[in-house]
Amino acid sequence: MVKYSVGILVLFLFQCHPKMEIYLLKSEMIQKLNNPTEINPDLNCLSNLSYVPDTSVVFADTKKIIRMNIHFMNNSRRNENYDGEKGIEYAKYLIYHANRKLAFNKKMNLPIGNNNPAYNPLYEYVLTPLKKDGVDEGIYFHYDDSLYYYINEGKRNNYKRDVINKYAVGNDTILNVFYMVHHPDSIRSNTYSASGSGIALGTNIKLGTTYNQKDDPWLYASLLNHEVGHVMGLNHSWNTNDGCDDTPLNPNCWASTGIDPCDGIISNNMMDYNTNQHAISPCQIGKIRKNMSKANSLQRKLLQKRWCKTDVHKDVFIRDKKTFHGAKDLEGNLHIMEGGELRITCRLSMPENSEIIVNPGGLLILDGATIHNDCGKFWKGIKIVRSGKNFGKVYYGKPSNLENLEIPISFETESNKL
Ligand SMILES: [Zn+2]
Repeated sequence: MVKYSVGILVLFLFQCHPKMEIYLLKSEMIQKLNNPTEINPDLNCLSNLSYVPDTSVVFADTKKIIRMNIHFMNNSRRNENYDGEKGIEYAKYLIYHANRKLAFNKKMNLPIGNNNPAYNPLYEYVLTPLKKDGVDEGIYFHYDDSLYYYINEGKRNNYKRDVINKYAVGNDTILNVFYMVHHPDSIRSNTYSASGSGIALGTNIKLGTTYNQKDDPWLYASLLNHEVGHVMGLNHSWNTNDGCDDTPLNPNCWASTGIDPCDGIISNNMMDYNTNQHAISPCQIGKIRKNMSKANSLQRKLLQKRWCKTDVHKDVFIRDKKTFHGAKDLEGNLHIMEGGELRITCRLSMPENSEIIVNPGGLLILDGATIHNDCGKFWKGIKIVRSGKNFGKVYYGKPSNLENLEIPISFETESNKL
């Protein structure tokens, strides 16, 4: 009797809902937008702020993973740096703490009284071996009496690339970090400052440290983040115009001393020199992610290409009015739901075999968009869902482009291809 009742109910529901039909978008189904809304010039494809992760749309901005390895430079007696199991453990903890600092990004101290939010920058490092032989962990030990040390004063060698030329591996796709020590003679000198210091040289970083087994592995985590900040395209913020309005010039105080100019609130920015270095401003995050989004950029080549294959757990759902301002690399399908309106204004990479589904009552606006698959594979295209008289709509404003489709669509080209 119970089963019979459910059967009637199911039949009843089917009769009440119009049939859903799905069409693959064709050129003639795309309409020109009659009254295009002006796009904020501060949020175009080249603007840093266009790349601040949009936390209101889950998985629209995905975490970027930077491939990294660590080289411990030591002398032939193997007593000036971490070695063996200790070194392997230290490298893993160093990266763990550096990633933790990024994820727990703090609000900027400066300018005093600012209300700028502290966003999760959504990037992190992962140890990456060159060889997938199960032995290579991306942690290397080198014993070289002439190249193991770092000098950043007097007879400086910090800017020299000899250690990189000799020991770097895969630095076209892996960020090579050379964990070096200040020369023992330098450390003994009263005039030499053997504090943590570093330099970014292309896709390589040299860190100058002092070796003390009692030191915790978080000690140089912020130094590592600072140098990676340089590799990702950030400048120092205290003394130069770094292109960001939210990182004011400042006296670059290491700590608050109570003496002018280092009294009161001092900078905590990652790209200034201070004890914290735990704040990355929204603009700095945007700048990093913009560089990561540029085709063929040095920064993009260091990333794991997680946007090639479709992960349905990372599908994106648009339920209200949104704009994709900067270039994005989705890792799942894109659904425009009833009441949702999405404007795409830059490059958008869709993973292999993924689709954009515009549901009844949903609206997609291609406004200077290039939608493609960044990995040279096909994606399935845009699908329109119809339910009776109600169907998803696609408009275009500025010339746009759909690429990497098995069945090509052309309506207008010459779009924004950042
Ligand atoms: Zn620096």
